[in-house]
Parts: sequence; C-alpha cells; structure tokens
Amino acid sequence: MVPEKAQGIVVRTYPYSETSCIATIFTREFGKLRALAKGAWRPKNAFDSALDLLSICQVLVLRRSSGGLDLLTEASLERRFRVGRSLAGFHGGMYLAELLDALTAEADPQPEMFDAVETALITLSADSDEWSSASAPVAVLAAELALLQAGGHGPAVGRCGACGVRLEPTGRTAFGMLDGGALCTNCRRGKRGLVSVSVAGTAALRAAAARAVGRKDRDITIEGRVLGELRAVMNTYVSHTLGRRLNSARHLSNGTSQHL
Ligand SMILES: [Zn+2]
Repeated sequence: MVPEKAQGIVVRTYPYSETSCIATIFTREFGKLRALAKGAWRPKNAFDSALDLLSICQVLVLRRSSGGLDLLTEASLERRFRVGRSLAGFHGGMYLAELLDALTAEADPQPEMFDAVETALITLSADSDEWSSASAPVAVLAAELALLQAGGHGPAVGRCGACGVRLEPTGRTAFGMLDGGALCTNCRRGKRGLVSVSVAGTAALRAAAARAVGRKDRDITIEGRVLGELRAVMNTYVSHTLGRRLNSARHLSNGTSQHL
C-alpha cells in the first residue's frame, strides 16, 4: 500500500495512547478521514504542529479500504490558525469545524465544502491580512451557508422554500425552521417553527448566500444588530437541520464581535 497525498483541515484530535492521537481531518481529495498519528504527541515527531486544531496541512495517509482507522504517515503545516486579536475568530473557526464534521460522512469528498471552510479560516485567522473584527461573523455566516448548501440543507432565501415563488425583498420574511427557510404568504399559513426576519436581516442573508456560492467579489458588511438577529436564526435552523445543537454555537459572537 502506498501513502496518498492530500490537503486537509484538522477538525478534531483526541488522544489514542500517551504519545499518539487520532485526528479527524477533512481532506479536499478524500473527504473526512479519521487517522491514527503514531507518536504525534512526542516532543519530536513527524507531524510537528501540523495537527493543531484548524490547521491547514498536507498529509500522507495510508487509507484502509475496509473501515477502521487510516494511518497518517506524515503531515506538514501549510497554514496555522492563529488566535490573536479576538476570540470571535477562534470561536468562528471552532464552529465551522464542528459544523463540517456534523454535516459530512467519512470518505465522501466535498471539495466545495473544503474550499468554503478554508477561505473562512484564512479570514478568521489573526495571521491574515484580511482579518478584521467586523469580517469574522460575516465570514462564518457565508461559510456556514456554503456548507449547508453543499450538503443539500441550504435554507431558501430569495424564493419560497415550499413552492419556489420569488419573494420580494421589501417586507419582513417568514422563515420556517422546519420548512427549509423563507416562506411566502400562502405557504406560511399553519406552519410551526416560524420566525419573522427583518428587512435588513433578509437582505443580509441574501447577500451572504450569494457570497457563499462563490461571488467573492461581493464583499458585504452587516451591522451588529442584524448579525445578532441572523445568528439566532441560523443557530436554530442548524439545530433543526442536525437534530441537535452544536456545542460551539453558544460561543459565537452575537455580531458585535468586540469581545476580548
Ligand atoms: Zn410558497
């Protein structure tokens, strides 16, 4: 068996023995894999800091064909995630890692999910020139929408999630947590789990969804109050989609992003 090369994002690590760990790595080439890294927690090892949480790395992996753990033979750091100027960036990164893990099965490549999280991690890392406290929650929202869309769970924003009719962006929008997002006047009747999203919130959600599908040139700013509203909507929507609440969701900034 020959080790295969992949680019990966470290989404989770846990101890396997005193000196080894198991890393959950979302690779661009093979999707999510769980691999044993022997000796990774020895002072000198073949992985250096490449297996730190949220690192983007190059890995060499021996893949098992019949279940079981893969074996990581080498990992080299491509981009370290740095927590520097704000906790908002770190919490955002942790949230995206947990969401990525929750939405994906092992060995199911989803390159668009990889790209969305990689782009967000670069923005969120204090190491980046692109970093600013205001851009962190927007980067999380855009990546979150991209992940949901790629996984077939994207909420409807510009059209009714039930009948598909185009929605005018002029009034408050009914957003169905159990019905795939925005709903028109006809379809919202009798529905449970509805919230009403403000005009500004609806517009921001549309802009973030457009950015999520790759129109990166459309840089958007969303004011803190609106981000707080959308954070509440998305936390509930994701909980309904996954059937559980993500641990890291409660640490997400409410949009003011000035904590620390
Ligand atoms: Zn409808």
